[in-house]
Amino acid sequence: MTAKILDGKVIRDAILEETEKKAREFTLKTGVTPGLVVILVGEDPASQAYVNSKKKTCLKMGWYSKLIEMPATSKLEEVAAQIDRLNADPKVHGILLQLPLPKGLDEQALLERISPNKDVDGFHPMNFGRLALGLPSFIPCTPKGVIEILRHSGIETRGKRVVVAGRSNIVGKPLALLLARKGAGADATVTIVHSRTVDMKDRCREADILIAAMGQAEMITPEYVRPGAAVIDVGINRVDDPSLEKGYRLCGDVHYDSVKEVASAITPVPGGVGPMTIAMLMTNTLEAAIRQAGV
Ligand code: NDP
Repeated sequence: MTAKILDGKVIRDAILEETEKKAREFTLKTGVTPGLVVILVGEDPASQAYVNSKKKTCLKMGWYSKLIEMPATSKLEEVAAQIDRLNADPKVHGILLQLPLPKGLDEQALLERISPNKDVDGFHPMNFGRLALGLPSFIPCTPKGVIEILRHSGIETRGKRVVVAGRSNIVGKPLALLLARKGAGADATVTIVHSRTVDMKDRCREADILIAAMGQAEMITPEYVRPGAAVIDVGINRVDDPSLEKGYRLCGDVHYDSVKEVASAITPVPGGVGPMTIAMLMTNTLEAAIRQAGV
């Protein structure tokens, strides 16, 4: 069996087109243009690449977008003051604090400083708690992107055994909660596995849908995959590759070439979940603008 390749770029483009259209109608009705501001503290090159593509996508949609760059030496109060200004700025509907922050800055305190109404990353405890309760909230972009890939690809989750490998607050945990919720695009029987799981391979092999979000380059080999399972690879890892000019290549948590021979469907890295994350940020920003406009 060779797996169907789930192309995140194609799904992203369809979602962005739809979102742009909805935003145009919203702007015509209200005179409001959606606005997103990203705060980048420090000079992490991977973060710089991510924030640039977020800004580029926003501008392509014709939305208000701004990148606030702050030095790695910034104090908590300085970043907090910046967030306070953005919380009060009516042009700004979404605020994104790019993670990870430089060591020494209290990430949780700063995430909690963002107004829950502008928290388009869905990391504020208010939004996370509402997600857990099954109430409307901003849903973290990467987990939301995974749900959308499954939905757009016609992969049913209802009654299916889903294994989520990884339990971080930004990917694994919210994703497991979303999949276990009641309703369409959810209703799954979810198992979370992590670094302390003793029978990792056996648990993963039980999955109809296996989602890898560990940050462990190419760890998921065919021994972890039940033949015919759908495999979603959230991981983005840099591995040394002296044969390339840049000296490294990007890969996922799944050993793509071998797993695609046993899975029924698979997402590539790059080009799978990654593009979806940005698309979901745009849908969350539009949702924030709509809510703040009270329509
Ligand atoms: P974290 O490091 O915060 O969490 C990793 C999780 O994987 C932890 O729960 C950890 O377990 C678990 N884990 C680590 N090693 C193993 C192992 N050997 N066996 C089983 N479980 C393991 O990572 P993130 O959740 O932030 O990110 C995960 C991956 O997804 C990364 O590669 C990241 O780059 C990528 N990512 C991709 C995005 C995208 O847009 N496509 C967006 C965000 C992240 P424990 O809790 O026990 O430590």
